[in-house]
Amino acid sequence: MNYSHWIKKAMKKKYKQKKESPTSSTITKKQISKQSMISIRELYKAQKWEQLIKIAKQTKGLFEEYDCIKVQKKVIKLGESVLINSGDAHDEDYIGTIKQIISIKEPTTLKLICLCRVQWYMRKSEVIKSHPKSNEWVSDQELFQTKHEDYILAQTVIHSCQIFTCKEFIDLDEIESTIYFNRLSWDMEKKQFQGLEKLQKFCSCQQPVNPDRKYVQCDSCHQWYHLECVGYQERELDDSDFFCKICL
Ligand SMILES: [Zn+2]
Ligand SMILES: [Zn+2]
Repeated sequence: MNYSHWIKKAMKKKYKQKKESPTSSTITKKQISKQSMISIRELYKAQKWEQLIKIAKQTKGLFEEYDCIKVQKKVIKLGESVLINSGDAHDEDYIGTIKQIISIKEPTTLKLICLCRVQWYMRKSEVIKSHPKSNEWVSDQELFQTKHEDYILAQTVIHSCQIFTCKEFIDLDEIESTIYFNRLSWDMEKKQFQGLEKLQKFCSCQQPVNPDRKYVQCDSCHQWYHLECVGYQERELDDSDFFCKICL
């Protein structure tokens, strides 16, 4: 494992060491640290991050907080959104916002275990499993914010990515694969969109705008319609007027 990408500059410790009780003897302290040594190793192997953090916080010098990480010579700050290695399918790497950056020192080897607490976004592929009809209006570059958070190994962070509002995204001249947008939240328990009813609906099919699809505007009522919904081919689009069924 390579931790060289870690910036040594530590943040002011937010966590304050608990005052030792005056009765605790040297032996007791030794026993505690021996116990935490074993537990840290085992919890690390089992990837039980929350328990690991709890134990590390109990021993001075094992727990540290940071305000940024360095990935491939680039600094990623707290609060930035990042692509996280999902293991096998790279086109479906995870996306989350970094809420906390910490390191835990392995007491025997003094190696640093670096973790990030991330708040997850859901992708199109995940939400259409529960709502197949949303395939029509959800963009390939669209993300849904969730309230769900997890600790991940900092080394699984690939690079930072940009998340725009829907309007900003539509106004962009060029769209790179690392550019996403967010306009709705996703309730992970209920498997539902949040705020969907507030979105403006377009076309005769009454769906929220999908920036991936092509639209034509009626020259009378100025409403926007999907090309497919009005039986238009893209090559038919020219300067001639278009009138929707209602206005014809
Ligand atoms: Zn339509
Ligand atoms: Zn019209």
